[in-house]
Formats: sequence, structure tokens, C-alpha cells
Amino acid sequence: MAIDRLLDVALSTSDAAVEDGVVQELIAGAQELQISLKQEQLDALRRYQRYLVDWNERFNLTAITDDIGIQVRHFLDSISCLLALEPGERYGGKRIIDVGTGAGFPGIPLKIMCPAIKLTLLEATAKKVQFLEHLVEALELQDVVVIHGRAEDLGQDPQHREQYHWALARAVADLPVLIEYLLPLVQVNGRILAQKGESAPAEAQRSEWALSQLGGQLRRLIPVDLRGITETRYLVLMDKVATTPERYPRRAGMPSKRPLVVE
Ligand code: SAH
Repeated sequence: MAIDRLLDVALSTSDAAVEDGVVQELIAGAQELQISLKQEQLDALRRYQRYLVDWNERFNLTAITDDIGIQVRHFLDSISCLLALEPGERYGGKRIIDVGTGAGFPGIPLKIMCPAIKLTLLEATAKKVQFLEHLVEALELQDVVVIHGRAEDLGQDPQHREQYHWALARAVADLPVLIEYLLPLVQVNGRILAQKGESAPAEAQRSEWALSQLGGQLRRLIPVDLRGITETRYLVLMDKVATTPERYPRRAGMPSKRPLVVE
């Protein structure tokens, strides 16, 4: 707790001018995506950044540690998921699960942008879960549940199976594997969203079999250009059109060992 208090003091007395320059990049980048950021949202992100950098020195939570990198590659990239949500879904208290959230991406920035969502953060690594629990408390986020576990186990747990409106993930697994992690968790007519890089179209093509097995259907790929980043990012959006057969997800480790692809 002592460190937290020190950090809070540091927050209020920090070099605001340098930080403001960085925040301007985030604001401009969001504007390019037609997303506007309120002052309280910027403040929450700024606090998030401080905690991330501070904990990263001890726990190695992320490889991206520079200001601009965190603002653009973590925050802006996470916020870009808004492009896939209808306005009603942003404000309507939807149940969303972020699988393999790591240090909270994309789930926490999304929660900061859409306070009404009910967010579950799932993460397999204990030290990241510890960070997330601390962060949720420090940022005073409501309706956020942090779970230490694996997608394969949650997908077979009646408390979580087919319980969510949306499941999303960034940088967790190849798309056919990810589909087996995500689809069992959402209800029929729910959606899943994978944030991907330039391999998205090819990964989507290789995912047809996995989707057909698990009750999913490709909806669309939304290309996203992030300010200052040359690589095109993609939001791969899929619908759940039928109940997932009970045998999926297979036991922990199997989806990645034997992905549902037709070679
Ligand atoms: N989504 C974050 C973290 C990506 S790293 C980001 O984009 O920054 C991938 C994370 O997924 C790791 O923290 C890893 O522990 C977690 N992970 C991998 N497989 C998982 C599984 N089957 N269930 C839950 N978490 C998993």
C-alpha cells in the first residue's frame, strides 16, 4: 500500500507537460477513429499507465514500456474495439469477457470507455491476475470480475459457458485456436472479436472449419489504421449462430496442440 500512496503523490505532482504531449497523441489517434475521449477517461488511462509501468519493473507484464507505445499500441489499439460495437452495446450493460487479457488489454481501456459494460477478465498467469486485481481496485472500476484460469476450463463451467454477449481477445492464439477459446463462452446470437495484425485475412480463411464445428460464422473484418503505426490492424468479428457442441472446448492445451484446421 505504501507504494500506491507514493505513486498517487507522484501522479499529482508529475511532469504534466511531457505527459500532456503524449496524451495529445492518444486524443488525436482516437479522433482519427471517430472516438472522443472525456477528461475523466484520460485521467483513468493516465493512472493505468503509471501502475503498469511501476509494476512492470518488478513483474515484466508487457514488453511495451515507452509512453507513446503504451498510449498507442495498448490504449488506442484496445479502444479501437469500439468500432465493432453498436452504440447500444457500448452503453447497455452487456456482459463481455476478455480472454488472455494479460495486463488488461483490450478489456480495461474498453471498460474505461464504456462504464456500463459488465466485464470479466480471464488470465492464466498468476502475477498478471495479481496486477489486474490491484488495478481494478485502484481505478475503482465497478462490475469487473478478475478470474485466474484457462479458457478451456471456463468454457466447460456452467457459470461461464454461453453466458456472455461478447468474448474478445488480443494476441492470445492463432484464430482457429482462439475460436475454440471464445465461442463456447458466448450465448447464441452473441459475438466474438479477435484483434489481429496483417495475417487476419489468412487466419480467417483457415478458421472456416473451426467456426463450423463450434457454431460460429465469420461476420466481417474491420481494418483499423492506428496513428503512427504502419501495419494495418484488423478486428475480426464473428457471430455465434448455433449452440457449441459439448465436446468443445477440449481439455486444456488441446486446442493449441491440435487446432481445428483442415490441412
Ligand atoms: N491480451 C493481452 C495479453 C496478450 S499475451 C494483450 O494484448 O496485451 C497472451 C496472454 O494470454 C498471456 O498473458 C497468457 O497468460 C494468456 N493466455 C494464453 N492462453 C490462455 C488460455 N488458454 N486461457 C487463459 N489465458 C491464456
